Amino acid sequence: MTTSSELLKKYNIPGPRYTSYPTVPYWEKNPTEAEWIAGILGSLKKSNSTGVGTALYVHIPFCESLCTYCGCNTRITRNHSHATAYVSTLLKEWDLYRKHFNQHLLNDIFLSELHLGGGTPTYLTPGELETLITGLVSSVKISNSFEFSIEADPRVTTREHLTTLARLGFKRLSLGIQDFDPKVQETVHRTQTEDQVRTVTDIARELGFESVNYDLIYGLPFQTLKSVEQTINAVCRLRPDRIAFYGYAHVPWIKPGQRRFTESDLPSGDEKRALYELGRTRLEEAGFREIGMDHFALETDSLWRSNVAGELHRNFMGYTSHQVSPLIGLGVSSIGDCWTAFAQNEKHLESYIRRVEAGELPILRGHLLSKEDLVLRRHILNLMTRFSTEWDTTQEFTPFLETVPSKLQAFIHDGLIEFEFTGTMAQCRIKQAGRAFLRNICMLFDAHLNRQTPKTQLFSKTI
Ligand code: SF4
Repeated sequence: MTTSSELLKKYNIPGPRYTSYPTVPYWEKNPTEAEWIAGILGSLKKSNSTGVGTALYVHIPFCESLCTYCGCNTRITRNHSHATAYVSTLLKEWDLYRKHFNQHLLNDIFLSELHLGGGTPTYLTPGELETLITGLVSSVKISNSFEFSIEADPRVTTREHLTTLARLGFKRLSLGIQDFDPKVQETVHRTQTEDQVRTVTDIARELGFESVNYDLIYGLPFQTLKSVEQTINAVCRLRPDRIAFYGYAHVPWIKPGQRRFTESDLPSGDEKRALYELGRTRLEEAGFREIGMDHFALETDSLWRSNVAGELHRNFMGYTSHQVSPLIGLGVSSIGDCWTAFAQNEKHLESYIRRVEAGELPILRGHLLSKEDLVLRRHILNLMTRFSTEWDTTQEFTPFLETVPSKLQAFIHDGLIEFEFTGTMAQCRIKQAGRAFLRNICMLFDAHLNRQTPKTQLFSKTI
């Protein structure tokens, strides 16, 4: 068997993160507005009858300054005058959906998840947030087990923001931290102190937020084992409930802001993985448990409980504690998912606003999933959430799956997975040593990627 350093080199190739399947560059069958609404309605009826409810994702694109590692859809501006008009466009978009639901006599929508992401949702003033949230929830029923969550930047989040959000029912707060090292912070243009983060965390706890998440990144320019250890030590002192410890995705051809440093400033594949392993070890010593890819939680947090119960889900926001469908995306660049179709809104702010104001759903592109997509989507989701998947070769089968076992051989040989055939049942299990290569293993189940190798580099490297 090859050494792990050789394996890291061998498998460190461009690959998707699988927040969806098919992945966005392979979307090819755009739904019409009527097809998208039909998909949402089908999913809504099912979720109403099972009591699972509906999820809303709302994208707030504004940020006051650009963090140079950022991969999100943002509009950088210190001029806050656009924010109120944007809130009103979001509410108009939601009205367009509700009109469609009313036309189909679907009057009761049970909302179980509401997530505000960005950009920087706390770029909005507390008053603008209140207008937005009360407008969104005024016409829906709120499920008993609802989860309202928000991403926030500790540099611009005030006690007034958190007080308003707590009063509106928000229980989960996710703070962008990334790294505490001064040199790294200066390079990525995001300076914030441990004290700033502690203040926001303490206020959230005092106001009754049940889960505080920190986003961290490994693989940033000038990170070293020592600097990452210091960041993790600070995080352990602050003790959030959840941590997303993402690998930095270097895609300067898509995000030109990343050209403000060079590839030689970044830790290499081996070094980058060592940063993750160090962080994982320290976090586990401090009582955090590893979940899926790049996520950690305390055993008291709902993400860990759903992991134990086998209910973990993964969507465009990363890991969530259970699957809620449909997911309706509002706002510029937001992506909706009704399981049988995806739809993404206009990515350009002015185009998004123009279309909503003209009374159209502002869908830019999407994908209607084929039968094969639906089968493979389930397997990739299984691997991403529970490191194993299985199929009956006589049921829920698609011919592409016949090609997978031979492709798995290299991973079996490298000691990364176990694969078994019993009667008509096939099972693929990822071993502990294979977890670093989760994205590579999912790629074997990706029929689109296997049929059409991208001509240009679309994805960041897997390690
Ligand atoms: S990382 Fe967050 S705060 Fe920084 S530019 Fe991106 S979205 Fe804005």
